Amino acid sequence: MSLFESPFFQDAFSQLEEAAGIMKMDPNVLERLKFPKRALQVSVPIRLDDGTVKVFEGYRVQHNMTLGPGKGGIRYHHHVSLSETAALAMLMTFKCALVGLPLGGAKGGIKVNPADLSRSELQALTRRYATEIAMIIGPDKDVPAPDIGTDSQTMAWFMDTYSQLKGYTVPGVVTGKPIAIGGSLGRADSTGKGVVYCINFAYEKMNKKVDKNTTVAIHGFGKVGIPAAVDLHHQDAKIVAISDVSGAIYDEKGLNIPACIEWVQQRNFLKDMPGAKTISNEELLELDVDILIPAAIDGVVTEANAHKVKARIIAEGANGPLTKEAVDIITARGGFIIPDILCNAGGVIVSYFEWVQGLQMFFWDLDTVNKKLHDIMKQAFDKVYTSHQVYKCNMKSAALITALQRLEGAMKLRGMFPG
Ligand code: GLU
Repeated sequence: MSLFESPFFQDAFSQLEEAAGIMKMDPNVLERLKFPKRALQVSVPIRLDDGTVKVFEGYRVQHNMTLGPGKGGIRYHHHVSLSETAALAMLMTFKCALVGLPLGGAKGGIKVNPADLSRSELQALTRRYATEIAMIIGPDKDVPAPDIGTDSQTMAWFMDTYSQLKGYTVPGVVTGKPIAIGGSLGRADSTGKGVVYCINFAYEKMNKKVDKNTTVAIHGFGKVGIPAAVDLHHQDAKIVAISDVSGAIYDEKGLNIPACIEWVQQRNFLKDMPGAKTISNEELLELDVDILIPAAIDGVVTEANAHKVKARIIAEGANGPLTKEAVDIITARGGFIIPDILCNAGGVIVSYFEWVQGLQMFFWDLDTVNKKLHDIMKQAFDKVYTSHQVYKCNMKSAALITALQRLEGAMKLRGMFPG
C-alpha cells in the first residue's frame, strides 16, 4: 500500500487541507506537511513457540521534527500499514504542536493481532522490532510510547533491548514505562484524565456542570475509557453504556463502574457482565446521551451512521474515531466535538513529563504531574475554543489551525535546507 492510500490518511489530509484553507496557511508549508520526513519499513522475524519462524511487517514513521524529537506510540494491530502509520504520525505532529510540547510527530506499529501470540512470542517480537528500528530512535531522535495493543511491559522490553544495544541503561528512549524502571506517576491514567478535563472545560463554556444527571456512553473500555469512566463516576455522572471488542452493556440508571472494572480485570472482556443489558457497539454510538466518548479505534463514526449519533458532546478519546464527513454532519446539527489531538493529548503530555524526568533523573509526585497536565490542557482548550470563535469553524478545524499556526511559524523560522 502506498503512503497516501489508506482512507485514514486521506481523511487526515482532507481535514488538514480544510484547516489550512481557513487559516490561509502558506501552500509551501502545506506541501511539506503532506509528506512524512522519514518512513522505515522493517521485517520482524520471530520463532514461534511451536518452533516455526514467522515474519511480521513493522514500521516507524517520523512525520515532522521541526519542534523537537519525534514522539508517538507503537501500535500492535492487524490493521497496521505504512499509510495508516503515516497518518497517525501526522496526527502526532499536530497534537504535540497544539499542546506546546518541544516534540515532533512519529508513530510505529506491527501488523499483528497481539492476542494471537504468547507472552514470550510478544517479547521476542518487541525485542526484534526494537533492534530493527534502533538506528532511527533515541532520546534525542524519536521516543516511542504505548498505543493500541502495547503497554508498559512492551515499553520495558523495548527499553531493555535498546539499552543492551548501547551497553548502558537509556530510560529516555521510550515513555509509558513501568514506574519501577523510570516511568512517570500518572502516565497510565493520563489520556483518560485529559479527556475528562476537556469535557469539564467544554461544560464550563456552556455554563453547565457535570453532575448526577449527566449521561455518558463510552465506546472502548480500555486504557483510555477506564480512567475516563473512573473520573466521571467520581463526578457522579451516570455512565449508561460501555463497550469493548466483546460487545456493549447498558443500564439506563447508570452502570456500577467499579464492578465493571473488576469484571474486566478478572475476565479480560465485558461480555456476560451480570445485571446489565447487552447492546451492540453500533447501538452504543447512537444512544441519546449528553456525552459520547469514542475511545477505541479510528473510523467508528462515518457518514453512514453520523446522522444517528445523538450525543450533545463527542469527546474523541481515540485517534480519528470520527471521519471528516461525520464531523461535518454532527457539527451541522449542533453537536460539539472535542477533537482527538486536543482531547486525547493527556497521554503524550505526561509522556513528555516522563521523558523530562528521565533525562533529569529527578521524579515528580502525582499531584505535580496532574496539576501540570491540567494546566497545559486548559491552555490548549482555551486556544482551540478561541480559534473556533475567531475563524467561525468547527472545533476540529480550530484545533488544527491552532497547531498549524505554531508549526508554520517554527518551520518558517528554521527555513528549508538547502533553501
Ligand atoms: N499513543 C498515544 C497517542 O496517540 C501516546 C503517544 C505518546 O505518549 O508518545 O497520543
